[in-house]
Amino acid sequence: MHNSTSIPSYPTRCTTFLDDLAKDIHDSRHLNGNTNGSRANEPGVIPPRALVPLDIIIVGAGLGGLATSIALSRRGHKVRVLEQATALGEVGAGIQIPSNSSRILLDWGLGSFLKGKVVEPENITFRRWEDGSAVGFTKLIPEFQKSFDAPYYVVHRADFHDAMHKLALELGVEVLVSSRVVRYNSEDAAVETANGRKYSGDLVIAADGVKSLARAVIIGTTASPPVPTGFAAYRATVDVEKMKEDPEIAWLLETSALNVWIGEDRHVMTYTIAGGRSFNMVLSHIDHTDMVTWRQENVVQDIRDSFAGWDPCLMKIIHLIDKGLKWPLLSGEVLNRWLDPSGKLLLIGDAAHAMVPYMSQGAAMAVEDGAALGEILSIVEHKSQIHSALSVFERVRMQRTSQMQEASLLNGKIWHFADGPEQRARDASMRAEVEGKQFISSPNQWSDPVTQWWAYGYRAADEVVKAWKESLSAKNL
Ligand SMILES: Cc1cc2nc3c(=O)[nH]c(=O)nc-3n(C[C@H](O)[C@H](O)[C@H](O)COP(=O)(O)OP(=O)(O)OC[C@H]3O[C@@H](n4cnc5c(N)ncnc54)[C@H](O)[C@@H]3O)c2cc1C
Repeated sequence: MHNSTSIPSYPTRCTTFLDDLAKDIHDSRHLNGNTNGSRANEPGVIPPRALVPLDIIIVGAGLGGLATSIALSRRGHKVRVLEQATALGEVGAGIQIPSNSSRILLDWGLGSFLKGKVVEPENITFRRWEDGSAVGFTKLIPEFQKSFDAPYYVVHRADFHDAMHKLALELGVEVLVSSRVVRYNSEDAAVETANGRKYSGDLVIAADGVKSLARAVIIGTTASPPVPTGFAAYRATVDVEKMKEDPEIAWLLETSALNVWIGEDRHVMTYTIAGGRSFNMVLSHIDHTDMVTWRQENVVQDIRDSFAGWDPCLMKIIHLIDKGLKWPLLSGEVLNRWLDPSGKLLLIGDAAHAMVPYMSQGAAMAVEDGAALGEILSIVEHKSQIHSALSVFERVRMQRTSQMQEASLLNGKIWHFADGPEQRARDASMRAEVEGKQFISSPNQWSDPVTQWWAYGYRAADEVVKAWKESLSAKNL
């Protein structure tokens, strides 16, 4: 393994190409006599009600908070969601819903709310930065549905959020806006909002995002603020009608697909959203500058400068961008607990496990959190078991999400190689998938067969139930 990437702790064969490269270099040096410096359910069906129905307060009505509210209310728990914003909404345009998340959402019955809003892309193509030639390829239709029993979607965030909100309301969730939580009393599962209201229940779930206040309460005063990851992203959309006018870029719209240009220190992820009406772009780059120096009014020019010299086709699309946002990619510190010692305050979503978006799995992990929590909190038989059930949840979800954080960061390395031996080895290792030949490993984590099963075949509720049963039988031994 090359020393710029460490060995992943999750099941994957996505870095095999680096081992092969190291071996090749070693072999060729050896052959040349030079051994110096070698580099190495059924949709919407209501499941059984919780054996111990709880009164639950969720802080934050982002995708994570709403997903969790749905998972819990459909099992018969009483759920109130407190949101600081005066109106509900989502920043940014597109979001991918990978199969591990869509399976859960469709089981919950979100399909009817997403009808006509989601796009199901046929494939993902990774493209060389300089000329757009295909260097990696994953066929999504029909493979993902067939293998993982669920489609791979892309959607406008506002539509996704709105669909979740509507389903939550239909299930009886109470969503209260203009309710910024300023104080937690974890011993009593109670919170206080800036407008002086007090709420209490059996459990408080904080889904309050990467800048979480609850995190500091649970970890203690030493909890640090969110940390920059060294990456930033420009987020922009382009009107597809403008793209259609230019035959040199219009072909990108002929099939619904994700296209990702990858190159030194940066990449551009694109796909159409809003039922195909808008071309979504996330332009990521390594960025160690101080956020206070960023000028949002310069973003359009910054994007052009940043990607100057890239594929002329991509540059044509970039020149159609008339506004954009520069967004820091933040993560929280690595946490040693999500559950308050009282057992009555729990972190989920980005508050617990923010990650760079390079596996497109941040919100999907929050949906999985919701599914896992909905299940484990509904099978406990006595209130006295809630604390241990939450500890099991914490253990199982920490492992899953920390591995996804790791996989996401690894893409930030694999995609960002400068032209050279690693880039050539990476591209050579993805050639078989581009040529439609068989392969057993790939640096493309959407294609790598082992990573695929780990990422998209994962069933969050089953995993937490299994761990709960194991912990019960261990206690009974
Ligand atoms: C560029 C980019 C691309 C991404 N692409 C994908 C993708 O393709 N697929 C994917 O799955 N994920 C993706 N993600 C990640 C995804 O957006 C996040 O993981 C997800 O939105 C986190 O949801 P959350 O509910 O945990 O947090 P948030 O969305 O941050 O929601 C937190 C909510 O809590 C509220 N809140 C905060 N504090 C308080 C308080 N004190 N009182 C009351 N309310 C409060 C906030 O107002 C907010 O509504 C991407 C992220 C970025 C930046």
